[in-house]
Amino acid sequence: MRPPILNPLFAPITSLPGVGPKQDKLFRYLLDRSETPRIVDLLLHLPSNVIDRRAQPKIRDATPGTVVTLKVTVDRHRPAPPGRSRAPYTIYASDETGTVMLTYFRPQGGYLDKLLPVGEVRYVSGTAQMFDGMLQMVHPERVVDEEGFAKLSGIDPVYPLTEGLAIGSMRRAMAQALTKLPQLPEWIGPEVVRRCSFPGFATALHHLHQPDEITDILPSGPFWSRLAYDELLANQLALALVRAQLRRPAGTRHAGDGHLRRKIIDALPYALTSSQQEAVRAIAEDLGKPLRMLRLLQGDVGSGKTVVALLAAAAVAEEGRQSALMAPTEILARQHIATIAPLAERAGLRVAILTGRDKGKDRRDILEQLANGEIDLLVGTHALIQDEVIFKSLALAIVDEQHRFGVRERLLLTDKGEAVDMLVLSATPIPRTLVMTYFGDMDISELREKPAGRQPIDTRVVPVSRLGEIIEALGRALKAGKRVYWICPLVEESDNGLGTDMGLIDATQRFESLQKTFGDVVGLVHGKMKPKEKDAAMARFAAGETQLLVATTVVEVGVDVPEATIMVIENAERFGLSQLHQLRGRVGRGREASTCILLYREPAGETATARLRVIRETTDGFRIAEEDLRLRGEGDVLGTRQSGLPGFRIARPEIHGSLVAQARDEALRILQDDPKLAGERSEALRCLLYLFERDEAIPLIGAG
Ligand code: ADP
Ligand code: MG
Repeated sequence: MRPPILNPLFAPITSLPGVGPKQDKLFRYLLDRSETPRIVDLLLHLPSNVIDRRAQPKIRDATPGTVVTLKVTVDRHRPAPPGRSRAPYTIYASDETGTVMLTYFRPQGGYLDKLLPVGEVRYVSGTAQMFDGMLQMVHPERVVDEEGFAKLSGIDPVYPLTEGLAIGSMRRAMAQALTKLPQLPEWIGPEVVRRCSFPGFATALHHLHQPDEITDILPSGPFWSRLAYDELLANQLALALVRAQLRRPAGTRHAGDGHLRRKIIDALPYALTSSQQEAVRAIAEDLGKPLRMLRLLQGDVGSGKTVVALLAAAAVAEEGRQSALMAPTEILARQHIATIAPLAERAGLRVAILTGRDKGKDRRDILEQLANGEIDLLVGTHALIQDEVIFKSLALAIVDEQHRFGVRERLLLTDKGEAVDMLVLSATPIPRTLVMTYFGDMDISELREKPAGRQPIDTRVVPVSRLGEIIEALGRALKAGKRVYWICPLVEESDNGLGTDMGLIDATQRFESLQKTFGDVVGLVHGKMKPKEKDAAMARFAAGETQLLVATTVVEVGVDVPEATIMVIENAERFGLSQLHQLRGRVGRGREASTCILLYREPAGETATARLRVIRETTDGFRIAEEDLRLRGEGDVLGTRQSGLPGFRIARPEIHGSLVAQARDEALRILQDDPKLAGERSEALRCLLYLFERDEAIPLIGAG
C-alpha cells in the first residue's frame, strides 16, 4: 500500500488548475506515459536550462538575440488591420533611450488592452530582436507591473518541451505542482546526508524548478545530485530486495565434490591462469551458497572464459544437475562446443549443441535426452529459450556476450529451472558503475591476465590512400606463410534497408580484387552464405588452405585460428570501439606477434579519430570500455539503447557514477539492519520506492 502521505503527489496532473485534456495529451507524450501523468511525474521533469532575466538594459543598449527585461511606458496600440487577422498586433512602448515594438499574433480580443494599458509602466521580458532597424520583442514571455516585478526571481527554468506545449504552461503547471509537495520524512541515512551535504527532497525540487542562481539546475549541483541519489537508492534498494528473495529451497546445492572439475583440469593442455583459478573458485563458492549466483565473468576476447564456464558446468554436473550455455550466434555456439567437447568427453561430462540449424530427428533426440537428464551441458543459441526445450533439472544458465541479449532472454532461460544460477560472460568489460546501476549487486570476476605466451598486437592506423603499400606488404607476408583476416564493414542499417547488402558488395568486391592479386589463397565468408559454405570457408582458412580470409562482420569471425597474425580492418572509422576491440581479438591468439591495420577513409570525424587513437594505444578491454562509454554514452556500451532497460529519469552515470556505489552500500546496510523494512525508517523508504517507481519490489517483503 502506498503511504497515504504521498496521495497529493499521485493525483493526476489534470487536477491542477489550468491543466486540461489538451495538456494531458501533451504531457503524456512529453513524459512518456500511457496514462495521465501524476504530479510526481511532472515534478521529476527537470529543467534543461535557465533564462536569466536579470539583464535590464535600456532599450538603446539591449543586445538583439538575448533575453532582456525592459522597463517601459506603453505608448500606443496598433491592432491588425480589419480583415487581415494574420497581420501582427503591434504595441509601441518606450523608455528615455528609445522605442520597442511588442508584437503579438492573433491575440484574444481585449487581452492586450488589459495587459499593456496605454500610459502605464510595465516590465516586459523576452528575447530582443531587430526588425527594420527597430528593437522588437515577439510575444514577450512576461509582462508584469511594478508589484509583479518585485516577485520575479530573475531566473526562469527552461524545460524540454513538446510541440504545442508552451513554456509558460509548463512553468505554471510546475508552480502548481510544487504547492502539492507534502512534508515528507527523510529516507536517506543521516551519515550520508551529512557526508554528501544533501539538501532535503523538497528543497531540491524547489531550487530546481524555481532557481535563484543558474548553477541551481546543474546536474552536478547539490539539488540535482540529491534527486539522482534518491533515484539510485530506490533502484538499489529494489534490486537488493529482489536479490534477497532469490534464496534456494533449503538443502539444494549446485556444486558437487569436484571430481569432474579435477578430471577436466587434468585434461587441459595448459595451466589455468591465476585469474581463471580465482574465477572458478568464486563461482564454486557461489554455487554452494544459499543465495542464487548472479555473476559476471569479464575478460577480453581470448582471455579464456570458455574453460571457466565449462568448469562451472562441471561443478553443477557433479550434483547431477544441468547447465545451459547460450551464445549470440551460431558460429560462437559452435566454437564453444568445439572447445568444450573434447575436454568434456575426457571427464565424462555429456554435452550437446542445439541451434536453429538442428532439425528433425537430431533435434528430437537432443530434446529427449535433455528432458531425461542425459545431457549435462547444452550449448546453443536463442534456440535454447524455445518452449519445447525442457530440462530435467537446469541449475546453471551461462549467457555469453550478454549485452546482445535482452533481460527478457536471460529471464526466459533461467525460468527453465528452479533457482537457476546465472553466469554472464562478457568480452566487452562493462564499467563497474554501469553494472551496478543496471544489475545491482552483481558479483564480478575479471580475467585480466592473458593466457601465457600471448604476444602483444601492433596496431597501426593507416589512411586508405596507402592501400597500395599495404597490399604489397601483405604479399610478402603471404609468401612467408602468414594468415590474414581482411574485414569489411557491415554498413550500418540504412533507410533503404540495404545495409547488409552493401557490406556484402564491399566484401565481394574486395575479395575479387585481392583474388586477382594473390590468387587462390584468398577466401571469402559473409552472412549471406549458406551455413555449410560458411563453415567450409572457415575450415579452409583454419587449415591454411586459404591464407587470406575476406569477411564481413556479420560472421563475427568467431573461429579461433591461432595461426592468424594479421588483421586488416577496412573503413575502421565506421566501427565502434568495442567492435574494433572484439575484431582485433581474433589475432594475437597464438605464439607469434600480430599486427592489426586499421584502414580509414579521410577525413575521419572527430569521434572516429578519437576511437582509432584509443584502439591503437591500448589492448586493455577495460580501458576501451571506459573510453567507449565516454565517447558514446552508456546505452551503446550495454547495447540497450533500444531494448529499454529500466530507465533513469534523473541520475546520469557519467555525472553521478560515484553515487551508485554509495547508494548500493546504503541499500545493503538498510536491508541488513531491517530485512523486512519494518523499522522506523521503513515508511520513509517506502515513500522513496513509490516516488521513483521501484515499488514492484515491495510485495516481496510482505504486507508490512
Ligand atoms: P574467450 O572466450 O575469453 O574469448 P576462449 O575461452 O575462447 O577465450 O579462449 C581462447 C583460447 O585460449 C582457447 O583456444 C583456449 O583453449 C585458450 N586458453 C584458455 N585458457 C588458457 C590458458 N590458461 N593458457 C593457455 N591457453 C588458454
Ligand atoms: Mg569466447
